Amino acid sequence: MKKFLLKNIVFSTIKDINSIILPHHKKKIVLIVMLILFGGVLDVLGLAAILPVATLVFDPTNIHKSAFIHSVFINLGFESDHAFLYFILICFWLIFLFKNAAASLISYLQSKFSYSVAADISQKQFENIMNHDLQYFNEHNSTNLVRNFQFMPFHFSTYLLLPTLVLMSEIVVLIIILVAISLYNITVIGLMIVTLAPSFILTYKLIKSRTQFYEKERNRLNTELTKQAYQTINGYIDVKLFNKERYFMGVFKLDQSKFRRVSTNSFTLNLIPSKIIELTAISAVIIMFAYTLYSPSARESISIMLPLFIAAAYRVMPSMNRMLIALGSIKGFQYVIQIIKDGLQPVPNNSDQSNSSALSFNHYIEFKDVSYQYPSGKKLSVDSLNLRVEKGQKIGIIGKSGSGKTTIINILLRFLKEQSGGIYIDDKKITISEENQWRQLIGYVKQNVFIIDGDFYENIAFGVPRDEVDKDKLNSVLKLSKLDEVVDKSPLGLNSNIGENGTKLSGGQRQRIAIARALYKEAQILVFDEATSALDNETEKEITESIEAISKENKTMFIIAHRITTLKNCDVIYEMQDGKIIGAFTYEEIAKTILEN
Ligand code: ADP
Repeated sequence: MKKFLLKNIVFSTIKDINSIILPHHKKKIVLIVMLILFGGVLDVLGLAAILPVATLVFDPTNIHKSAFIHSVFINLGFESDHAFLYFILICFWLIFLFKNAAASLISYLQSKFSYSVAADISQKQFENIMNHDLQYFNEHNSTNLVRNFQFMPFHFSTYLLLPTLVLMSEIVVLIIILVAISLYNITVIGLMIVTLAPSFILTYKLIKSRTQFYEKERNRLNTELTKQAYQTINGYIDVKLFNKERYFMGVFKLDQSKFRRVSTNSFTLNLIPSKIIELTAISAVIIMFAYTLYSPSARESISIMLPLFIAAAYRVMPSMNRMLIALGSIKGFQYVIQIIKDGLQPVPNNSDQSNSSALSFNHYIEFKDVSYQYPSGKKLSVDSLNLRVEKGQKIGIIGKSGSGKTTIINILLRFLKEQSGGIYIDDKKITISEENQWRQLIGYVKQNVFIIDGDFYENIAFGVPRDEVDKDKLNSVLKLSKLDEVVDKSPLGLNSNIGENGTKLSGGQRQRIAIARALYKEAQILVFDEATSALDNETEKEITESIEAISKENKTMFIIAHRITTLKNCDVIYEMQDGKIIGAFTYEEIAKTILEN
């Protein structure tokens, strides 16, 4: 029965652990198991030493009755029994000092090992996630993604890896204890197996399915709660405007009370095994006592067996309890294995990760017969599109919402991959391995500018260590993007924090941060995506001026705009409809059409 039980969960978990952890951790695992085992053996030895020490202290004549102890007494030159006993007591204390120091060190090494396994898995998963394309992020909830690589690896090592190691070493320690006791009295072993083993199996059967349910439920609710909390905080303005705090808090509270219930039950369930095992052991003791009353002839054999049974049970019970908790944990956290395995599935990334910008762009960019359909889309969002943009040319793209403007920009940025056709640079199709180099050349000013919760340095010299920031370049970029005044007015200048998502900046200022970022990067191609649609007239004027100033530099520009004035500096303006370009105009032609209408 027990074998069957172990085969099912523990062996399959060992197999999974083996397939998940990295080779250099596998080597360490043997050492960790040996150390845990060593700790267990020290524990047993410490306890086993109590009996002989007590025999010597209570009856010092025993010192000379044992040939071994007597020879130690003589060889160390002791003259009085008392002095020898003090020496024995100090040794006894030193054994415990060593045992506990070793146990602390083992716990430290064990945690270090377990956290380094988790950290490595987490980093690998994070790396894999970042190798996915934009489509993947559009389709997955970000809270789930973060939870999967931030918490699951730690769940894996705390609730699967360590319990498996503990279980294995406890089994060995248990065998050592049982063998040691059997040398004294084989009947005690029989008695222990008859009483404790069934209660162990029954308790495990009782808790295993519940544990699995509780842990799965706790994980589900935890994800839900994080999601709801983020949504309510991020949606602060709408929640307030619709006066729906109570509704959102209500949903949160409901799930939280479920979480509280499940957690309480799970915690209580973990305590039950030790209680049941203790009850079984004490029942055995009571039955033996009762039996001596019923049959006085059995008294002598029971009086020999009972202390040994109590002593053994005293050591074996916590061990069984730890095994049950480990088994419960292994069962309860099985769901983590699949999440980790999925997260570790290699995601091909053929892009050159270096910062080199070897890709040369000297003449033109060309969309040749590009078609794209979203996986969940019903028709083509970009339909056999052809477009050639000369280096240094400024093109505008207009068209109704849903006509495919953002999609072609994402194709240009290589975040979406066309199903047919291709993007050519100077007559050379961009290959997958060149995508990173290609993106080095592009600056993207989009509608919702991503702002780091940091200062101007971090936001403009994006991802550049502070001591490597080129101050002169930064200053000229600030002027070009008209951010210099904003920086001057900020209390700490360039060191001023602009808040999570740029909450301390106006919409126009956020756009200008994105412009400055693109300029600092020395992007040769600038993409503005509906950059001015959400701005007031004054800010729009400023942005248009920034674009105008940048236009004087030899930058190639793609400007998707709602407001026609932003397109003033464009050499040509294309109109899109249903994923196709349906016309090319000059700014004057467009302005005239609008006036006529
Ligand atoms: P625009 O930027 O001109 O407003 P888009 O490029 O965003 O238009 O969208 C073009 C078409 O593709 C629209 O019909 C839109 O519904 C569809 N679309 C955009 N994003 C997705 C998506 N993630 N999944 C499915 N269809 C999408």
